[in-house]
Amino acid sequence: MENMRDKLFYEQKNGYDRIGTEERIKVEEYCREYMDFLNEARTEREAVRYAVTKAEKLGYRAFQPGEMLNPGDRVYRVNRGKALMLAVIGKESLEQGAVIAGAHIDSPRLDLKQIPMYEQDELCYLRTHYYGGIKKYQWVTIPLELHGVAALKNGETVEICIGREPGEPKFVITDLLPHLAQDQMKKTMAEGITGEGLNILIGSIPYADDGKDRVRLAVLSLLNDAYGITEEDFLSAELTAVPAFDVCEIGLDRSMIGGYGHDDRVCAWAELKAMFDLETPRRTCVCILADKEEIGSEGVSGMQSSAFDCFMEDLCEAQHVALRRCLENSFCLSADVSAAFDPLYPEVSEKRSESKLNYGLAICKYTGARGKSSTSDASAEIVGYLRGLFEREQVIWQMAEMGKVDQGGGGTIAKYMANRNIDTIDAGVPVLSMHAPFEVVSKFDCYMTYKGILAAYRD
Ligand code: MN
Ligand code: MN
Repeated sequence: MENMRDKLFYEQKNGYDRIGTEERIKVEEYCREYMDFLNEARTEREAVRYAVTKAEKLGYRAFQPGEMLNPGDRVYRVNRGKALMLAVIGKESLEQGAVIAGAHIDSPRLDLKQIPMYEQDELCYLRTHYYGGIKKYQWVTIPLELHGVAALKNGETVEICIGREPGEPKFVITDLLPHLAQDQMKKTMAEGITGEGLNILIGSIPYADDGKDRVRLAVLSLLNDAYGITEEDFLSAELTAVPAFDVCEIGLDRSMIGGYGHDDRVCAWAELKAMFDLETPRRTCVCILADKEEIGSEGVSGMQSSAFDCFMEDLCEAQHVALRRCLENSFCLSADVSAAFDPLYPEVSEKRSESKLNYGLAICKYTGARGKSSTSDASAEIVGYLRGLFEREQVIWQMAEMGKVDQGGGGTIAKYMANRNIDTIDAGVPVLSMHAPFEVVSKFDCYMTYKGILAAYRD
């Protein structure tokens, strides 16, 4: 009987029961580098900069259209400072297709409005417009830091970053004390904190004169001293408030990582690291770090933009290959996080179908919502291919689904890749508290995601 069970049942095992000490050490080594990346890359612009600096040290060069490309060449293209594409040219022609992994480097956050600053009762604030799907109540009473750029009329761009370095001041959105929150506490969680209420406290000392808005004036004078900007420069600024928590290990066993922006920098790093560790592959390997996924992959730096097709076409032209031939023979891992099963909230999940912490890389055949609406729904053949590949390469993986049927849902860049006639499937790291200011992942799953992407690149 036991034999029959072993043969016929599909049973999953905790990943830690399936690896030895040697691989455990690799998990730790891998995660140390990832934690450094996550600490440094708080916005898409910072992620691009971090990645390009590392890539150039490893021999990647900015790719110019018309350049010749040979197997083993390493090239990249930055899309407007906010998205990045890298390629390692394979031994086979691009006519055989490319192996693509695509993650996004934008995360939910609070963007400043274009006229953000105001003073109320001698305190100075910045108004925000949140970016991506957030639970607004999670963003009050936590330390925040400011990141971004101001583009000046003369064409110069001023980099602004306040609160990241030790000793720098941080910012906060205040909340009502429980003593006086009787009315607030009766509201729903969606209504308790409003979008227009997410105003960041930035100063309280008045400027030494006797006009109006003296605190605002004093704050502007500090900004002017530090960055040379005036209030008008906010009109053409992209400034964003992100949680000021440092990335850290979670648990007595240190098995997890807590931090802001695991979604989706945890997969972005897995792709990058896999690219960096790659020898000359059989097929050309492409790594995408996309922007704007959290708001629907829109815009010039999102995956709906033809910036990707343009890069691929330039690569194809270097080998006299038609782009459409390359795309139809390509394979894409849409590397994005999945919703991990949370034992504190079992009611939203159908447990057996959900991804779990420490069970490895989570493959999601379909995302979407309400009857698989808005998903590219990868084919059985693609899942079958990955089963074979991951078994050969000893990648520990699991199947994932986002919650119970009709409970909610979500999307990734997968459908925009599939719409391009590329076989695409979602794969990534399970996350607890996804989209919260402080998200949690398991080190084991981070490492297996890297290992899985590397296996696909090498195949
Ligand atoms: Mn994501
Ligand atoms: Mn997301």
